[in-house]
Amino acid sequence: MNNSWFTVQPIDDVTFAISEYGHWEKVHSFLLLGQEKAALIDTGLGIGNIKEITDTLTRLPIEVLTTHVHTDHIGNHGEFERIFVHEGDLDWLMHGIKGLSLEQIRRDIGRDITQPTPDGFNPETYKPFQGAPAGLLHDGDRIDLGGRTLTVYHTPGHSPGHVAFFDETYRYLFTGDLLYDETPVYAFYPSTSPVDLVHSLERIAEIEGVRTIYGSHNTLGLDPEILTEVKRAVRLLRDKDLVRFGTGLHQFNGFSIQF
Ligand SMILES: [Zn+2]
Ligand SMILES: [Zn+2]
Repeated sequence: MNNSWFTVQPIDDVTFAISEYGHWEKVHSFLLLGQEKAALIDTGLGIGNIKEITDTLTRLPIEVLTTHVHTDHIGNHGEFERIFVHEGDLDWLMHGIKGLSLEQIRRDIGRDITQPTPDGFNPETYKPFQGAPAGLLHDGDRIDLGGRTLTVYHTPGHSPGHVAFFDETYRYLFTGDLLYDETPVYAFYPSTSPVDLVHSLERIAEIEGVRTIYGSHNTLGLDPEILTEVKRAVRLLRDKDLVRFGTGLHQFNGFSIQF
């Protein structure tokens, strides 16, 4: 079995980043272990089988928590029994991502791959997961893994049902595609909302006591200092009336946003 597709990096004894550095999107999924169960935040691109990795890391029952329903975050949802998603992205999970053709998805999944892919991966026959979740995530939900609690923040903008997770116990903030570095955070598709995205950034910037921020792409682990810059960005974008489609790329210290 070729598992070299994934890179597993321990964040601490009970938290693991499972990364796909061989693909241009540099996607991170995260496995969080509690005493009674584990949470897997997203399931990657679906190029390799992430369950083969999580099986080696824990024997706890795993609940999949979906930051949002884009192809690069739900790739292995079909490998797990208990998946959860926010209502705002439920329709896409069950019936496909609106406004994105299968041809486009296959082009994006198959391009700019810099490492050998696992046997069985074929971009020409690739199909994103579709199916029903075990349950829904709501803003303010608290997820108890046993001695470890996550809080759900509904953070729409990049997608209608995008959520972030704050690990109250370890003080990690998992921001999905709401905040990461290097490449632009995007809200320029018809299904996105610049107004909602800025409001969501404003909300997460208010969370106190964040130790490390984990976005779903690029650099693994960002200093929470970036939240100060997020606050500045929110103010600046609003003051200059830039929170609209078509205003383009906005660069800040440590991240950028495209409307
Ligand atoms: Zn996304
Ligand atoms: Zn993404």
